[in-house]
Amino acid sequence: MHHIGTFVAFDQHSGKELNKVLNCAQGPGASMPVGYLGSHQLTLLQFPACPLPETDEKVGYLAGVLSTPGITGYLLMAVIILLGWFSRPKGRRLSYRVFYAMHHLLVTAWVLLLVVHAANDWVGVGVPVVLLIAGLPILSYGFTRAKRLYLSCLKIELVKVVRSESGQLLRLDVDLPRSYRLATVGEYAYINVPKASCTEWHPFTIAGIEVVDGVQRITFIIMAAGIWTKKVHEIIKPEGERAVLHIDGPYFAPAVTIQAHEVVVGIGGGVGVTPFLSFLSHIASDAASNFKRAHIFWTTRTASDYKIMSDLFSKLEERMQTRGGKLVLHLHTTPKGSIWKGDGIGSLFDLATRHIWQKRVDTFIRKDPTMIPTIARYTRMPLHAVVVNDILHSGNPVAIPVGRPDFTRELKAVGNQDTHADVGVYVCAGEPVKQSVEEACVACNMSTTTQKFHFNYERFS
Ligand SMILES: Cc1cc2nc3c(=O)[nH]c(=O)nc-3n(C[C@H](O)[C@H](O)[C@H](O)COP(=O)(O)OP(=O)(O)OC[C@H]3O[C@@H](n4cnc5c(N)ncnc54)[C@H](O)[C@@H]3O)c2cc1C
Repeated sequence: MHHIGTFVAFDQHSGKELNKVLNCAQGPGASMPVGYLGSHQLTLLQFPACPLPETDEKVGYLAGVLSTPGITGYLLMAVIILLGWFSRPKGRRLSYRVFYAMHHLLVTAWVLLLVVHAANDWVGVGVPVVLLIAGLPILSYGFTRAKRLYLSCLKIELVKVVRSESGQLLRLDVDLPRSYRLATVGEYAYINVPKASCTEWHPFTIAGIEVVDGVQRITFIIMAAGIWTKKVHEIIKPEGERAVLHIDGPYFAPAVTIQAHEVVVGIGGGVGVTPFLSFLSHIASDAASNFKRAHIFWTTRTASDYKIMSDLFSKLEERMQTRGGKLVLHLHTTPKGSIWKGDGIGSLFDLATRHIWQKRVDTFIRKDPTMIPTIARYTRMPLHAVVVNDILHSGNPVAIPVGRPDFTRELKAVGNQDTHADVGVYVCAGEPVKQSVEEACVACNMSTTTQKFHFNYERFS
């Protein structure tokens, strides 16, 4: 703006003339814009100094370009361009840490440059320009920093640490001080582990909420995904001295609406199951939950990961037996690599498990033919499932199929149980699973007019 306004005036007028209109050159008692506080404290940074020399010579365009507002104006533009460059989705994906560090550096530089930019005090725009332009963001940024400083002083007690057999998942149960509000199903919180990094706060879904003797106990499941999470896996061990950690939250996430549906399908890929574990922990606790039917799908590469939540699954089994409600857990293990063709060492596994599985299906048929699991009707053959007894504390068998669920078939089966009840479908998984569930919802919605399948999606990146 100075290029088409102020600098042109510098080119056409003398210092004597300009001093009559420049704010900084007005003596005490001159009329100023409403709310104008002035910034005479920064006169040391003024170039050229104000008032301008009282001569009849024109000041010149270049004097404006090389003035404090001129130079800082170019620097401000460079800062904005760099901010845009480092904030590109591609750049953020490539290295979030570079984006994060540059953002803090550049935003601070932007505010400081803005203060210096207004030091010449040429034009009055009410309060100092920096407060007018960046006052609100500075306040909210200052608030979050102050809040995190305060949260870093609170004592969080780490009461339980469990590592999955695969070593990929770490379960942390923590007791929160009373100053934290009660978390609700599906929410998340930021975790900071000073020993891993003082400045990094990473978001994690609250996978379990329980109130023990008036104290809120929440559960997190952390997958060793990258630099910070791997460090946390090394620092926080199931045995030995408990590491210090800080928590900022809970915060709202899409899965919080899960409780609004009477019929719910939750689909979690790997650690993406955490929003649904939180829902399950709510059902398992004595809190009155109004769901009629819930189907939770958890697909994982390593079947032993399920054992990390065996206490919750056992509690749910007890709850279903004593208080009713229809909950079905679909645990699928999806090994990496191409689809197995039935050869090699896997054929032995096939031989050993096929008749056990058939026996289980026969038992279902004898008890109640409507109870046969949908996977028994998958057309994709061969079907493989393992029946295990060490996930539930009761020792009751749990079937774990190998391979991804057929979502269209599964959703149709859920819908057919009550063709007038709408179904809330929630997915927290990678793109391929999201796509196939979305397509399944579309297919189900097209095949019925009496019920709706509501698709909801959340991702962890
Ligand atoms: C709402 C939500 C809920 C989540 N819930 C879970 C969960 O329950 N369990 C789970 O295992 N994972 C969860 N995640 C993912 C988890 O936050 C990431 O896996 C974790 O932050 C990866 O950190 P990393 O350094 O190990 O990975 P890296 O691959 O090294 O870092 C990549 C990601 O870490 C984050 N990051 C990097 N540096 C910083 C920094 N300085 N400050 C803040 N963030 C930074 C960025 O998001 C970046 O994309 C959730 C994510 C979100 C958004």
